[in-house]
Amino acid sequence: MPKDTDQLRVRPHTKVHLHDWETAWAGTKELRHLKGDQLKQEAHEILQRNLQRLSQAQDLLWASDQYALLFVLQGMDAAGKDGLIKHVMSGLNPQGCEVSSFKQPTGEELQHSFLWRYGRRLPARGRIGIFNRSYYEDVLVVRVHPEWLEKQHLKPGHSLWRRRYDDINNFERHLTQNRTVILKFFLHVSRKEQKRRLLARLDDAQKHWKFSASDLAERAYWNDYVDAFEDALSATSTKHAPWYIIPADDKWVARALVSEILTDAIRDLRLEYPQPTQEQLAAIRKAKRLLEV
Ligand code: AMP
Ligand code: MG
Repeated sequence: MPKDTDQLRVRPHTKVHLHDWETAWAGTKELRHLKGDQLKQEAHEILQRNLQRLSQAQDLLWASDQYALLFVLQGMDAAGKDGLIKHVMSGLNPQGCEVSSFKQPTGEELQHSFLWRYGRRLPARGRIGIFNRSYYEDVLVVRVHPEWLEKQHLKPGHSLWRRRYDDINNFERHLTQNRTVILKFFLHVSRKEQKRRLLARLDDAQKHWKFSASDLAERAYWNDYVDAFEDALSATSTKHAPWYIIPADDKWVARALVSEILTDAIRDLRLEYPQPTQEQLAAIRKAKRLLEV
């Protein structure tokens, strides 16, 4: 049966027009008829329910040791990436997951090809790797500020971005062929909601630390970012590594939706706890006897 969240997946080879994707959609059957506080409340309950399912699914991922899971999170500034990680990952066993937050590349990183620094942070089998920003920054923020390519002695141009999309698709294909499941989420906020959140960072003393002057500078490039996201999402949503466009004007709705997609994806792997061999069973019986005397 198709899931409600399937509608949020970008079909391969389709052109994404972000304008057509709502930022305030809440179309799953549980959320469809709700508004305001009731919507928040229900979204919060869905998240809580999914946290339990996610915790069980992670345990199975770890025990079965068959797959790694790479969770890629992108969005404009103030789209809610950090809060989503905090809330959706709060039920996970920290031993089996690792968050990597990517900032501007260091001098050493710039000495390598653009995928190098991300390759070093990939999750091992049995683990969940969370990329808070990712190699997609190299076709997003770098495309908006192509002068940064000079540090890598590269020249911007249509063919450079095309080649990078190909590199990314090949990289992701390599990973999925080697048992890494990849899920990519774009947190889609409206320009109006971004303004509200940036203002909140200025008005609330406890949020001042979140404010960065670059957030305002980057907001001025909003349309350039939209173009960059539309091209990147269109070129790199594949069957093996799909993009989901998550309506993110309501943080709780975004968290509920992502937790649902993530949990379903692990469940869909139909993993099982490893069966003990005859030898192990004999050892278990023996150990029991010894402990019971
Ligand atoms: P934040 O996520 O708020 O901590 O900000 C991190 C900053 O690092 C953002 O402005 C990103 O655009 C920037 N950043 C991340 N990856 C790259 C990259 N590959 N090249 C240039 N800037 C990047
Ligand atoms: Mg920031």
